[in-house]
Amino acid sequence: MKIDDITVSRAIIETYTQRLLNNLDVDVAIVGGGPAGLCAGYYLAKKKYKVAMFEKKLSIGGGMWGGGIMFNQIVVQAEGKEIMDEMEIRTVRYRPGYYTADAIETVAVLISKAVKAGLQVFNLMSAEDIMVRKDRVVGLVINWSPVDLAGLHVDPIATQAKCVIDATGHPSEIARLLRDKQGVKLLTKTGKVMGEKSMWAEMGEKAIMSNTKKIYPGLYVAGMAANAVFGGQRMGPIFGGMLLSGRKVSRLIDSDLRREKNV
Ligand SMILES: Cc1cc2nc3c(=O)[nH]c(=O)nc-3n(C[C@H](O)[C@H](O)[C@H](O)COP(=O)(O)OP(=O)(O)OC[C@H]3O[C@@H](n4cnc5c(N)ncnc54)[C@H](O)[C@@H]3O)c2cc1C
Repeated sequence: MKIDDITVSRAIIETYTQRLLNNLDVDVAIVGGGPAGLCAGYYLAKKKYKVAMFEKKLSIGGGMWGGGIMFNQIVVQAEGKEIMDEMEIRTVRYRPGYYTADAIETVAVLISKAVKAGLQVFNLMSAEDIMVRKDRVVGLVINWSPVDLAGLHVDPIATQAKCVIDATGHPSEIARLLRDKQGVKLLTKTGKVMGEKSMWAEMGEKAIMSNTKKIYPGLYVAGMAANAVFGGQRMGPIFGGMLLSGRKVSRLIDSDLRREKNV
């Protein structure tokens, strides 16, 4: 078969543009493609919500690829293993209650499951601002990451979402934006992003579940961002909490959206 270079270019431009247009108005927009965001995206897409993920880096997977100190093995506890089993990610029992998994397999399978469930992923795309109307977060302001990297003065575009998840990890960028730009009080003790505490896996993994919640109408936090917002401990390369947090936020959003639909 003869290959026409212009047809290849046209195929990319037309299909990508159509996909982006289809995702300018979604049920849920997820900022950050780490394990928490991917897990949330998987469960929400499985429930047939229209879900778009914006990830500022080229690769999806956040901090999971490198395991701990670039040893690409991760650890999950018994609770997290339940999700690994559901996703058919192989784990090996190390000691009672501790399981290891290949970080590369874990990220690859998470991405595959989430995308096949219907999650639409836009990499190299940064959320640089939020849309707020009538005291509710109603969408994101996005731009190509290279625009920021190159320091170019190029305006972003707006997207609309019924719910936004801040799954940006340690920086908790979306929660900070809301607080700094809108001056609103978050649902934390101080009303501000409290910042994460030093590493203590047991406490961090416990806290992450209660910290995974709605922090403002339309805005939810999951994964490391949840602990960073509420002042929880960081936990290092144990990843069960990230997966469980992603699943928890999907359940919260499902129940909130169902309730809103019935009002
Ligand atoms: C690159 C990287 C390396 C890490 N290495 C280690 C390590 O070696 N040891 C350790 O203990 N912990 C490490 N961490 C942290 C640890 O991996 C996290 O605790 C865990 O991955 C948290 O999962 P998460 O899903 O909450 O967020 P993360 O895995 O941190 O993922 C968050 C994602 O959000 C994206 N993002 C952030 N802001 C925006 C924005 N405005 N728009 C779009 N996307 C955005 C980031 O690029 C990232 O991919 C690392 C985190 C990262 C991002």
